[in-house]
Amino acid sequence: MTADQNELLAIGDRRNSPNYAPAPIVFEQGEGVWLTDRKGNRYLDFLAGIAVCSLGHAHPRLTEALHDQVDRLLHVSNMFYTAEQIELMEALAQRSFADRIFFCNSGAEANETAFKLARRYQSRVAENPDKTTILSMKSSFHGRTLAAITATGQPKYHDGFAPLVPGFEYLPFNDASALEDRMGDDVAAVVVEPIQGEGGVRPADPEFLKTLRQLCDDTGALLIFDEVQTGVGRTGSLFAYQHFEVTPDIMSLAKGLGGGVPIGATLATDEVWQGFKRGSHASTFGGNPLVTRAARVVLEVIDEQNLLENAQQRGEQLRRGLRQLAQTYDVIGDVRGVGLMVGAECGEKAGEIVSLARDEGLLINSAGGNTLRFVPPLVVSEDDVEQALRRLERALQKL
Ligand SMILES: *Cc1c(COP(=O)(O)O)cnc(C)c1O
Repeated sequence: MTADQNELLAIGDRRNSPNYAPAPIVFEQGEGVWLTDRKGNRYLDFLAGIAVCSLGHAHPRLTEALHDQVDRLLHVSNMFYTAEQIELMEALAQRSFADRIFFCNSGAEANETAFKLARRYQSRVAENPDKTTILSMKSSFHGRTLAAITATGQPKYHDGFAPLVPGFEYLPFNDASALEDRMGDDVAAVVVEPIQGEGGVRPADPEFLKTLRQLCDDTGALLIFDEVQTGVGRTGSLFAYQHFEVTPDIMSLAKGLGGGVPIGATLATDEVWQGFKRGSHASTFGGNPLVTRAARVVLEVIDEQNLLENAQQRGEQLRRGLRQLAQTYDVIGDVRGVGLMVGAECGEKAGEIVSLARDEGLLINSAGGNTLRFVPPLVVSEDDVEQALRRLERALQKL
């Protein structure tokens, strides 16, 4: 712990795998919506580990629970139960359409599980082995394993990784007639993000989702919502499907679920889970007592501190402020999003604005190449949002 920030950065840049290009900052500590680097610089964190740190940094409830858990029990394997895991399964089932839950460690794995479950349901329960195609949307993002990049409807994520997984096809997002044309007896499932995140913070058209639900019902396809980013309060409802009033058959969660510890989950109905039997699927680390304890606390704090309402109100405030900035700064275009998943289009300047904002002590990133993405912790205050807007304005002045 004696090396200074610049010494550490030099080592990091020599040893880090080349698929990453981190900003030249070494973070040391966080509190609420604030992060501090090794030089003592403070940053307002409107990225939250990309929609992960839902309670902010070092939330006392989460920190205390994790300390207690570390002292008692970290891991036992899925050959045994722990109370932490059972309580989280029950809490998720009580709050959603799901009857049963599978735990894993990331969003990509939660989606892998969803795809495997959908195919096995069709072959073993619906007894329709020809129903194998999984449809996904263009400009979607579903993670980085081979099946997850295959489902991801963006060619740049496929580059150099062929052969991809067979049986995936892409449809234009929010295009109900393309969907009607393509749906058929070979379709096992359709996977969609209710709000595309990495693709540029693009909400689904509610009518599109309703049509999708109907077409899945008509053809026997399963509807998978990838709520890895939209789930667990991000949009101001616990799950985005509740906001859009369209219920999926399978839902994947990760990012915000653990408030910073790595946990993913695949949720589905009893009917759909009939697709798996003993031994069909597993994860060594999935749902261990450390991560399930964390997620249980996240759900409790969301309830107790009214964080859904806060996400709605602070999201409104942020969009209002961004639209005001757009009147002075032409570079800001369309401002969109739901709850605390907010995007502001700004063309080719997105990357430059992100780094100017960082110089002003505001952390955001760009999504879809042309959109500023704001996904602050759900505990963000009215004053934090005002500060973020002021810092962003200073960045825009320097553009
Ligand atoms: C981040 C993300 C994923 C991938 O999650 P990992 O934990 O990185 O595997 C999948 N789907 C969506 C919608 C995401 O935003």
